[in-house]
Amino acid sequence: MIIQERLQTAFQQFGWVRIPETLHAHAEEAATHNLTYLEFLDKLLQEELAAKHERYLKTRTRLAKLPYHKTLDQFDFEFQPSIDERRIRDLATLRFVENQENVILLGPPGVGKTHLLVAFAMEAITQRKTVYFTSAHDRVQTLQDAHRTGTIQQKMRAFTKPDLLLIDEIGYRKMDETAAHFVFQIVSERYEKGSIVLTSNKSFGMWGDIFGDTVLATAILARLLHHSSTINIKGESYRVKEKKKAGFFSSENRTDQSDNRSC
Ligand code: ADP
Ligand code: MG
Repeated sequence: MIIQERLQTAFQQFGWVRIPETLHAHAEEAATHNLTYLEFLDKLLQEELAAKHERYLKTRTRLAKLPYHKTLDQFDFEFQPSIDERRIRDLATLRFVENQENVILLGPPGVGKTHLLVAFAMEAITQRKTVYFTSAHDRVQTLQDAHRTGTIQQKMRAFTKPDLLLIDEIGYRKMDETAAHFVFQIVSERYEKGSIVLTSNKSFGMWGDIFGDTVLATAILARLLHHSSTINIKGESYRVKEKKKAGFFSSENRTDQSDNRSC
């Protein structure tokens, strides 16, 4: 009894949570299978480490503010033949993050841009890199609020500090002058210092319209594209495919077959 209490205290002090739950079962297993003391200790500690890593992934994923959690293994490359699987898997090694390079995913709604961006983010978190996700609209809103409340410098750090910054949905809305300058500032500060993965439904030629200023758009693109890979996705929306599969497009409502969701 005393030894059990002493063990519980020690576990608490070490901050171990998994061993206290499994100690009894492991001790019995060790006795049944004649494990050595070292094997027994190894099993306990490995399990605690695995639990700790899982907690780390959970926390970091939450802090990264990803819109959903999907990995590359959940991506159906056969559905989207315009994507070169080998190239994506190569990018997923995240050498581009080590080299402070950027990745730009272009394509119409529903083709998997955000899915791939999230998959890179989750891989980066597994590799213990710091990651921050933001949609273009949220970012502009946050920065404008911060500008008003005088916390802009602090907020800018959230975008400039992480190893990997993910900017989703450039081009779904036009930006005003202040918003466009924030983007320029972020891209400039990260230039050759930290990677950006960005998605857009608009080709580069249309970025002048998004930012309301061709000169500024050119300056942003020059920095973004200097060390970068661009993935152009052409194809059908996966959402439309899912809806078709679910019988959403029955003969009565065949008139609307477009993917109307604001992605
Ligand atoms: P967008 O290109 O508009 O960002 P998303 O990446 O958000 O589209 O994809 C829309 C939905 O379809 C998501 O749930 C995503 O996981 C799924 N999806 C898209 N493409 C694929 C694919 N090739 N394989 C599996 N799921 C996909
Ligand atoms: Mg998207």
